[in-house]
Amino acid sequence: MKVNENILISSLTTMRLGGPARYVLEVETPEDVADAYGFAEQYHLPTFVLGYGANTLGHDEGFNGVIIINRMKGIFIESETGARNISFEDHKPGRTALSVSEKEIFRQDPSPIQLKIMGGEYWDDVVEYACQKGLTGIEALSKIPGLAGAAPVQNIGAYGQEVADTLVEIEVYDTADKTYKTIPKSELNFSYRKSILNTTSKGRYFVISITLELKPGQMSRPYYNSIEQYIAANNVTDFSPQSIRNIVSTIRANKLPDPLDQASAGSFFKNIYLDEAAADAAEAKGYPVYRGKDGNKINSGWLIEQAGLKGKLLHGIRVSDKAALILINESAKSYNDLAKARAEITAKVYDKFGFWLEQEPVELQ
Ligand SMILES: Cc1cc2nc3c(=O)[nH]c(=O)nc-3n(C[C@H](O)[C@H](O)[C@H](O)COP(=O)(O)OP(=O)(O)OC[C@H]3O[C@@H](n4cnc5c(N)ncnc54)[C@H](O)[C@@H]3O)c2cc1C
Repeated sequence: MKVNENILISSLTTMRLGGPARYVLEVETPEDVADAYGFAEQYHLPTFVLGYGANTLGHDEGFNGVIIINRMKGIFIESETGARNISFEDHKPGRTALSVSEKEIFRQDPSPIQLKIMGGEYWDDVVEYACQKGLTGIEALSKIPGLAGAAPVQNIGAYGQEVADTLVEIEVYDTADKTYKTIPKSELNFSYRKSILNTTSKGRYFVISITLELKPGQMSRPYYNSIEQYIAANNVTDFSPQSIRNIVSTIRANKLPDPLDQASAGSFFKNIYLDEAAADAAEAKGYPVYRGKDGNKINSGWLIEQAGLKGKLLHGIRVSDKAALILINESAKSYNDLAKARAEITAKVYDKFGFWLEQEPVELQ
């Protein structure tokens, strides 16, 4: 376990705000996790689990506690018999060529494959790895910044897929009884941007690894609208996971900020989900309601745009001119600036439409 002291949270989060954290512990083995919580207990300090910081906001006063980061790496092919058990310790995408025996395994066995992914793997490396092997299930989740351990927390989703579609189970450290457990998907209560990990059991479990079930093949059509539009405009005929990954990456690059270039936390507000009656009422007022398999929703970006805020700079925070749901930290000096911008946006949208926007990123406190 690596122990760091007095680290600026702005350097650990993609919105690049936040004062110093007293301790940052980087855990490298499952045993380290218990030690890290023991360390915090010994010093009577609160804990916060951080991944890549792409969905977390730091506060100006920092955090007088212990931040714990999962640095465990590795992707393992799981099987009930153990016959296909290959380890990819310290897997680095782009550098690991498939060995002959691995190729054989994928060629001979078209049945679903379970991958156990250590939570410290960078999520997009996992997607790249799966696509390289022709496995479908997470290709539309390409380029979502973050670590694999955070993926089930808010049930990451994009372009018609969410991690709940393929997740089988997670391995955790349970801080309530200080034991290591496996939690099956059925107990995680997944829904839009939600699981027990960010609702009823928030802060209780440290995710050590996640297991996904992927299968050789292709995503079924119709794809998400913008993917279909891209396919039509560019005469795409290759629908392999790698091709869909390339399409999604291109669409995202044109619309979403790269966290390495522009400070943001991605979508700052959640879309608004409506029951049937509310959806009918919204439609009667002329609001665009999307009726999908996951429910009826209004795009919050549309509400922000209609409130005249798209592209506006508020207290150093830019409402993206490409996707109004995204707030970019252009020149904000403090969390307080962000809070003022957020208050103005939510108030304007409420005054115009009567909907309260709900924030997506988590507060580190
Ligand atoms: C440019 C941009 C685009 C984005 N696009 C999308 C998108 O398309 N779809 C989408 O769903 N999200 C998107 N996001 C949000 C973000 O990428 C995801 O929420 C991602 O899963 C965050 O991962 P992270 O490692 O950065 O988590 P963090 O921000 O570090 O943590 C997020 C939450 O998870 C908890 N957590 C993290 N790791 C663990 C662990 N090991 N065990 C227990 N709890 C843990 C934290 O305590 C916190 O509550 C985007 C963000 C950005 C900046």
